[in-house]
Amino acid sequence: MIELNRRSVLFGTGAIALVSGAGQAVTARKAEAAAPAAQSQAPSFYRSKLGDFELTQFSDGARTFPIADTFVRNVPKASVLAAAEAAHMPQGQVTVPFNPVLINTGSKLVLIDTGFGPGAAAPVGRLATNMAAAGVDPKSIDIVVLSHLHPDHANGIKAADGSLVYPNAEIKAPAPDLNFWMSEENAAKAKDEATKNYFANCRKVLGDMMGKITRYEWGKEVAPGITALDTSGHTPGHTSFAVSSGSATMLVQSDVTNIPELFLVNPEWQVMFDYDPEKAAQTRKKFYDMAAAEKTLIAGFHFSFPSMGYVEKSSTGYRLNPIRWNPVL
Ligand SMILES: [Zn+2]
Repeated sequence: MIELNRRSVLFGTGAIALVSGAGQAVTARKAEAAAPAAQSQAPSFYRSKLGDFELTQFSDGARTFPIADTFVRNVPKASVLAAAEAAHMPQGQVTVPFNPVLINTGSKLVLIDTGFGPGAAAPVGRLATNMAAAGVDPKSIDIVVLSHLHPDHANGIKAADGSLVYPNAEIKAPAPDLNFWMSEENAAKAKDEATKNYFANCRKVLGDMMGKITRYEWGKEVAPGITALDTSGHTPGHTSFAVSSGSATMLVQSDVTNIPELFLVNPEWQVMFDYDPEKAAQTRKKFYDMAAAEKTLIAGFHFSFPSMGYVEKSSTGYRLNPIRWNPVL
């Protein structure tokens, strides 16, 4: 029997002493590896099956940043800090991951969202590297579907030199988001800096390619087996997707919630990125009530990699039960 002495685990420096059942002290030596540390993360992609479809989750990276006073608009900062601390985020900060998904329907390769793009500053913009590691050629993508036009979802459509990253893909974006963000009238009405930046970014990235974008409508398929769902609130055209192959179904939820540790647990909390926070909260509850009742698998763009799980009701709101890594397809 081995007893862990709490004091030595918490306060010991260097070696951790364990006492074996035979009464002998066992000392763990510091690693004396001859090999240099790798100093970089492993390729981040994860495959799974949904009926006959093959899914590949990709990480575009994750950002850790100090919690702004207005990060959650309708809650005192102290409560936000406490929730982040309870979730073991770095002190005073949150980590937000970004995870696009590729769906191989058997006839089409469909990429939902594109990340920040290869021109983005580290530690984001890693989709291209991870796609290469997964053996996926960007030229082979048939359809790129944007869930909404925020930079973390749409900017990866272009490389740093302005060329198209997926040159052979049909590019689809939700009609209400295109109408809203590309309107000069709406842009002129933007008051806060963040919203002004969103309008400016849409013009910069998509302005010269409006003729190349197919507008899609809610309630219709954007690709075989992938149906666009109205989950507006986060943006006016914010869209999620119901994916089905045979009897298997799942939801790709985009930004119905930002990081689950804060906004699933507290579905009323209004993250600063929501354009219409009241509507976003209504959407959140409607969406997760349905997903929890039907026990539907969900892919969440801002869930921790590989960013899939099941949402269950909890005493305050909801909680995420992440999938378990499956080594076989
Ligand atoms: Zn987002």
